[in-house]
Amino acid sequence: MKVNFVDLKAQYASIKDEVNEAIAGVLESCAFINHRGFEQEFADYIGTKHCVGVGNGTDALFMAMRCLGFGPGDELITAANTFIATAEGIGWTGATPVFVDCDPVTYNIDPDKIEAAITPRTRAIVPVHLYGQPAAMDRIMAIAAKHNLKVVEDCAQSHGATFKGRKAGTFGDAACFSFYPGKNLGAYGDAGAVCCNDEGLAVQIRKLGDHGSNIKYRHDFEGTNSRLDGIQGAVLSVKLRHLDQWSDRRIAVAARYSEGLKDVCIVPRTAEGVRHVFHLYVIQVNNRDELMKQLGDNGIASGIHYPVPLPVTPAYQGLGYKADQFPVACGMADKIVSLPMHGDLTDDDVDLVIETVRKFAK
Ligand SMILES: *Cc1c(COP(=O)(O)O)cnc(C)c1O
Repeated sequence: MKVNFVDLKAQYASIKDEVNEAIAGVLESCAFINHRGFEQEFADYIGTKHCVGVGNGTDALFMAMRCLGFGPGDELITAANTFIATAEGIGWTGATPVFVDCDPVTYNIDPDKIEAAITPRTRAIVPVHLYGQPAAMDRIMAIAAKHNLKVVEDCAQSHGATFKGRKAGTFGDAACFSFYPGKNLGAYGDAGAVCCNDEGLAVQIRKLGDHGSNIKYRHDFEGTNSRLDGIQGAVLSVKLRHLDQWSDRRIAVAARYSEGLKDVCIVPRTAEGVRHVFHLYVIQVNNRDELMKQLGDNGIASGIHYPVPLPVTPAYQGLGYKADQFPVACGMADKIVSLPMHGDLTDDDVDLVIETVRKFAK
């Protein structure tokens, strides 16, 4: 590939000494499990009182929702267009995901369609800040307050994004982060975290991930094993120092893409007052599969996020949804293409992608 989709090798090369030193420090100390240092740094960065490191982003979602008390018989409202992990987190508590179509401009859950999905069983809204753009948190928080619902933010794609000056992850009762290697802030393996302001909730989540225990061999309930390991925490501490600069580069790359492509395809639109951190740069074209082939033939990676909206994915067939209930999510599923996006793209890389897409579009 001439232009990679993400380029973890280039990123590592740029921070190699710092990362190697941090990992060596963990090896010397043998503090392999838990890394409280990173948790506090990340809580400070996001602007919450607490951060609990867990094994991955899917666990972050499941554990936060379980500790908020959701379970069988409860309905949790989430977006039709997201990675399956959002809905898995809901499902693993025993609750049922209720899908709502997305907004055609931001691709985030459409606040105008949320209230129609609320029933007496609804307990929470689980917005996803998809592709790095915060969902309409003012509208969502107002709906939640009106109907007495909790809010759990899926921040797996939105590290450092802001909505009207406030970081994504500071609005809801809990915010769930993934540090999967390809995310904007990625570990060197699986990792995740829950940020929140409620100390009781933070304690409960930490206990759930440590076998229901916070005192050795006193197990207050049956938990699981889901913790942030020391090496991942050390890597994340180093990378957190670079995150804002990498986000700035992503934003600049997105601006260059949009300038070069806005007359030949639908480019991403950023809502007013939002810092969109472009985990993904997603365009819409009519002959998507041909474009992807053309890009591949020219050494340019691309992807689809996501090819099948969750309500019509086999895992959720049992819920009985039909594609025509989700005209926006299902309508765009055949048109979306994600172009290469990471903090180490050069202007030449971006221009090559633009040129290739433009040639195709003509
Ligand atoms: C990546 C992702 C997750 C899951 O994170 P993992 O660390 O891979 O378990 C959840 N939600 C969204 C929107 C994601 O993109």
